[in-house]
Parts: sequence; structure tokens; C-alpha cells
Amino acid sequence: MSKPKKDNSVDCIFCAIAEHLVPASIRYEDDEIIAFDDINPSTPIHVLVIPKKHWASLAEVPVSGEKLLGKLLYCCKLLAEELNIADSGYRVTINTGKWGGQIVPHLHLHLLGGAPLTERLSMYTEVKTKAEKS
Ligand code: AMP
Ligand code: ZN
Repeated sequence: MSKPKKDNSVDCIFCAIAEHLVPASIRYEDDEIIAFDDINPSTPIHVLVIPKKHWASLAEVPVSGEKLLGKLLYCCKLLAEELNIADSGYRVTINTGKWGGQIVPHLHLHLLGGAPLTERLSMYTEVKTKAEKS
């Protein structure tokens, strides 16, 4: 059984992947970060790059995490070269929080490529106040 941790990482699927408790198709790994294929790819190449440390989202990263954020982004650049999508182009996305479309609450960068990507910017849903709904 997982030990309780202070950072709510218990039962986090990405922490489990980082600890090799759950299998993943790993593209890169060192002591701080791990990159693996998305289980439900949106594009022909869809890699997730995460810190091994549990931060719930980009919004939760403390100032001390600034350097590691740069490393995660640079890892996407290097993987894009390795996966031969650097010349054709690619996209790196970080969904953050509920309205940002984040589902897994462990910071992750999506590296998307391998085909021409469509939407230039994300669409949004109108949010109605209680008064507008009635
Ligand atoms: P997000 O909406 O930004 O939170 O994206 C979460 C992503 O994690 C989705 O694209 C899922 O397909 C992916 N995902 C969820 N569980 C796994 C898993 N066990 N291995 C690989 N990717 C996963
Ligand atoms: Zn986690």
C-alpha cells in the first residue's frame, strides 16, 4: 500500500508511472523527469513530459521549480528532434486546472505532432451565471 505523502501524490497515476509501478512506453527518463507516450494519443506523436515530483498543475509550481520547468520544455524540444517532427512542426500544451481542460492532476506537457494540427487556439464554452440560466 502507498504511504501517505504530504503532497497528495497518493493514487496519482503519473506518480505511479514515474515510480515504475504502472507500465508506460518511456521515451526519456532521468532523476527529475520522465517522458512517455500518451495512452490515448490525439496525434500520431503524442508524448507526455512530466516532473517526477508531484505538482498538481502548472499553477502549483513554486518559484523553486522555475529551472525544472525550463528543463521539461527543453525535453520536449529534444524529443521533437529525436522523433523527427522538429522540421515539420509541433505543439506543446499544458492544460491547467478545470477550465484549462486538465484531467490528470499532475503537471504534464503534451508534445503533439506527426500531422498538421488544426485549431490555432483552443475553443471555449460560454459560462452562464445563475441569473442568465433562468
Ligand atoms: P490532460 O487533459 O491534460 O490532463 O491530459 C491527460 C492525458 O493523460 C490524456 O491525454 C490521457 O490520455 C493521458 N493519460 C491518462 N492516463 C495515462 C496513462 N496511464 N498512460 C499514459 N497516458 C495517460
Ligand atoms: Zn503525481
